[in-house]
Amino acid sequence: MSLLQPSLVETDADLSELNTLRLPARARRLARPVTLDALEQVLAERDPAESLQVIGEGSNLVIHGDLPGLTLCPAMDGMALVKEDAEFVWVAAGAGVHWDDLVAWTVEQGWQGLENLSLIPGTAGAAPFQNIGAYGVELSQVLEQVTVMEVASGRVTHFAAEECEFAYRDSRFKSRDRGRYVITGIELRLNKLPACNVSYGPLKDHFAHLPVEDVLPAAVRERVIAVRQSKLPDPAVLANAGSFFKNPVVSVDKAGQLKKSFPGLVGYEQPEGIKLAAGWLIEQAGWKGRRLGPVGMHSEQALVLVNHGGGTSEDVLALASAVRRDVWERFGVSLEQEPILLP
Ligand SMILES: Cc1cc2nc3c(=O)[nH]c(=O)nc-3n(C[C@H](O)[C@H](O)[C@H](O)COP(=O)(O)OP(=O)(O)OC[C@H]3O[C@@H](n4cnc5c(N)ncnc54)[C@H](O)[C@@H]3O)c2cc1C
Repeated sequence: MSLLQPSLVETDADLSELNTLRLPARARRLARPVTLDALEQVLAERDPAESLQVIGEGSNLVIHGDLPGLTLCPAMDGMALVKEDAEFVWVAAGAGVHWDDLVAWTVEQGWQGLENLSLIPGTAGAAPFQNIGAYGVELSQVLEQVTVMEVASGRVTHFAAEECEFAYRDSRFKSRDRGRYVITGIELRLNKLPACNVSYGPLKDHFAHLPVEDVLPAAVRERVIAVRQSKLPDPAVLANAGSFFKNPVVSVDKAGQLKKSFPGLVGYEQPEGIKLAAGWLIEQAGWKGRRLGPVGMHSEQALVLVNHGGGTSEDVLALASAVRRDVWERFGVSLEQEPILLP
């Protein structure tokens, strides 16, 4: 007998509220398992030939047409203190936990580590997928392990942070193991004593006058939220999927040549080259605040593609392609899309 309520697998489900770009789409079958057992059962009952997508809150997606097969929206809940020692706490969260609820809870406890990642939309389960990052901090710096269920076998495995192959907006779950695992939970190691990273521009200016031990996670969170709210459109008000392109990394030579022609070029040194600010390139290519039909690049933050209402995935992809083309023609730099294209 099936342990699952049949109603837990919806058919022909509307996804327009499950993606922050508000693109119209439907899922042939949609399941939101709240436990590992429920997830195992959904996977066991699925025909292995049926296609499978995993989504969280849809804040980093371009859903291009209806999703065939099964769409899984892991909904494992709960945040807990796992263990602690004199210096650190280890906390666990289910994949379905809203990321910023986890940040808020840990910061309220006075634990340090997640404050720079405040207000990033999405779920805890999606966070390792692209190694979310903001204001000089990446998830990989605080992640202890990821719990996954293998789609083919239903087997539960843990990957230590070193095994996740984290890089800038990347991990094994996004690259070589794409589609192989469903992330069901994460465990983080956070500091009990404040050691906040306020090296990033807007935080540095704000906290420069304080010794590091006096910079509290709650104050950093408050500042990060204020900066984000002043710069980024709230998807609940203006549909968007955050940064639409990754910041491209070019060679030191290439950056040097560009700097001669474009003295205002914004770039940051990285071990692998110079990371250019994609928003600056887009703005210089004339796309800041410009619309193409119902979609456009945001007027305050050129890196964010917004849906003013009624836009489809075709509109989004046409705009992305026009922006990419113009940036290439002006700078000879290729932009890579950040949100995942489904199916
Ligand atoms: C306004 C705005 C600001 C943003 N700012 C930032 C930022 O500062 N830094 C940053 O890094 N990102 C940012 N993002 C992007 C986005 O918030 C993150 O990528 C987030 O982690 C996506 O979470 P989600 O639950 O919405 O995942 P979705 O968008 O639903 O999915 C994203 C990808 O993760 C996969 N995935 C999701 N859940 C799981 C799971 N449980 N197991 C396996 N795979 C899974 C999906 O298959 C998909 O490929 C922003 C987005 C918006 C809209």
